[in-house]
Amino acid sequence: MSGTQTKASPSDIRISNITAAFKQLFPATQISRANIGKLIGLSRFTTSEVTGEMVDNRILRELGPDNREGRGKRSQVLAIDTDFWRIVSIDLSNPKLAKGALADLSGRIVDRTELPADNGCSVEDVIGLCKQLIASTPLPILGIGIAVTGIVEPDGVVRKSVHLEWDELPLKAEVENATGVPTLVGNDTNAALVAERFFGDCSPNSMLISIGRGVGAALCLNDVIIEGSSSTAGEIAHVVVDPNGPTCECGKRGCLESLVSDDRLQERIAQDPASRTRILAEAGALLGRVMAIPTGLLDLRDISIYGAPEIVNAQFIDAMEDEIRRTMTTDYQKAPQIHRCRQGEDLTLRGQATIVIRTLVPTIHERGSLIGDA
Ligand SMILES: [Zn+2]
Repeated sequence: MSGTQTKASPSDIRISNITAAFKQLFPATQISRANIGKLIGLSRFTTSEVTGEMVDNRILRELGPDNREGRGKRSQVLAIDTDFWRIVSIDLSNPKLAKGALADLSGRIVDRTELPADNGCSVEDVIGLCKQLIASTPLPILGIGIAVTGIVEPDGVVRKSVHLEWDELPLKAEVENATGVPTLVGNDTNAALVAERFFGDCSPNSMLISIGRGVGAALCLNDVIIEGSSSTAGEIAHVVVDPNGPTCECGKRGCLESLVSDDRLQERIAQDPASRTRILAEAGALLGRVMAIPTGLLDLRDISIYGAPEIVNAQFIDAMEDEIRRTMTTDYQKAPQIHRCRQGEDLTLRGQATIVIRTLVPTIHERGSLIGDA
């Protein structure tokens, strides 16, 4: 391994240089070594040292010299090495069907499996799925990512998941004990927004609103997912938006979830099919009105809406966009772009894999022996 720093004392500077170089290339960019140095503000020597180590550790690969004209040594073009490390990603957003996948270092899904869990998913089910995916590849596993519905503490304890019926469950610790692989547990809506940010249409200042059995949101500011002071940022389902609205499961009246969840809208449409267009347009407009204040407060560039296409349809999106534009636009502040999330069912799997990649890639050098063995 090149460089003067030893494996025993990884410095913060080393980690921050690796993070900065990786950020330029993730998920699928090709840049010459010289240009990476310019972009992240490092000297030629340090860039060479940092990227050389990343190539040795199979984070990056060399694609050959760039085709720049002129004299002097040509710089190697670098890209993410997708042939070595694998990430196990688990999506528990549907409590009756655990989805699992292997992803490469660019966040692409390379293999997948599913486990029906009619009586709800248990920790043993999750561990079994992880072990099955780990055994399915001869390649080394960088880490495991698990996306769950509900509130997850930074230490990987699922504080409360209503849909999975889990309370105070130390999921990260249990999976790490059983597999020996570093594990990151997070909220599924946050994972969805990360995927939309890196593979979809969201900018560094964006929000994703998920409309399913419940309603949830995730927030990204300056490319950082916001967890909040008690890990509950984005929990907007049971905020009262109409004090005279219908009674909600939680006991209050007129919660956002009681007015715009998939279940609630399907129920209303079933009762009055002729009013389908009006019901969806009203729901979109209500969501636009409710989200105008946080959108103006945070100066968001875009909002992605994730949900079934028959509910989150053109009428819903147009009504939301019209309402948010009407209520918040001024000479100096523009309404955000509202779009339907178009990434399909791998959204959460790819997002959670991306969280593992971005968190654990900077620490790969601490696993030097593993690289030699593989
Ligand atoms: Zn409620």
